[in-house]
Amino acid sequence: MPKTFEVTILGVNSAIPVHKRHPSCQIINFDNELFMVDCGEGTQIQISRYKIKSNKISHIFISHLHGDHCYGLPGLLSSFSLGRRTKKLSLHGPKGIKKFIDTIFEVSQAHLSYTLDIIEYDTEISNSIPMKDSFSVTTFPMKHRIPTMGFRFNENIVSLNINAEKIKEHLLTVDEIKTAKKGKNIVRKEKTIPFEEVTFLPEKPRSYSYCSDTVYDLELVPFIKESSLLYHETTYLDDLTHLAKERMHTTLGQALDIAKRSNIDKMIVGHFSSRYSDTSIFLKEGKDHIQTLYVGEEGITYTV
Ligand SMILES: [Zn+2]
Ligand SMILES: [Zn+2]
Repeated sequence: MPKTFEVTILGVNSAIPVHKRHPSCQIINFDNELFMVDCGEGTQIQISRYKIKSNKISHIFISHLHGDHCYGLPGLLSSFSLGRRTKKLSLHGPKGIKKFIDTIFEVSQAHLSYTLDIIEYDTEISNSIPMKDSFSVTTFPMKHRIPTMGFRFNENIVSLNINAEKIKEHLLTVDEIKTAKKGKNIVRKEKTIPFEEVTFLPEKPRSYSYCSDTVYDLELVPFIKESSLLYHETTYLDDLTHLAKERMHTTLGQALDIAKRSNIDKMIVGHFSSRYSDTSIFLKEGKDHIQTLYVGEEGITYTV
């Protein structure tokens, strides 16, 4: 059974909350551990509306310090404390995020009931964030009006699959199976069985890339290449390409182009401008240009 790997969208609007849409926030579930990406205003209300188990959130990743991506943090972090959280929380973000959080908690004289570990990154380079054996995260630079980074969440292959036929053929013991799955040969007195003979590679490891906010940027391609699922902002439709360029955002057509060049056939779009009261037009205009296009919707869970 493959491990759970899915994304639930909690906020899919740009700038301000309108049309019942909220600013950016997503929850990634990998193997029953939760990771938050961006935390716009209203996130804690969305968490309770969609019954997210907030105690399972161990890491929060913030792409940049525009309000629609981080103004939900003070309320959320304080509420964790009111809920008597004791589990450590790691907060990853661009330079400045520590000052933002420390200042708010200092002036309101707030004390947290848990350890908050704030880690700042240089958004000009790609960073790898150590997580656990089966899961890793890399950041990559994005071009926006202030320092911004994207994230790629990767499943890592930690063990090979065993061929059931070969278990019977060689009468493999439990220990021998464990050895082969780790990629080591089975050494018996009479002979050695190479691990390649009894194992095979599991399916291609899955990955999810998150790009919000960014101008249309071909330099993203190598970082997100062949992701199983891509989230790319599409603040505007293509008639507003000039506005996208000016405000350093992306249009639907530009995001489709990035997906195509990155060999990605499944994409969620979001970060919609408040001028669109009905976002189904994004599906209408984009669906013929990619195998699977999801117009991001709050409360919906997408499989990676
Ligand atoms: Zn934004
Ligand atoms: Zn922004």
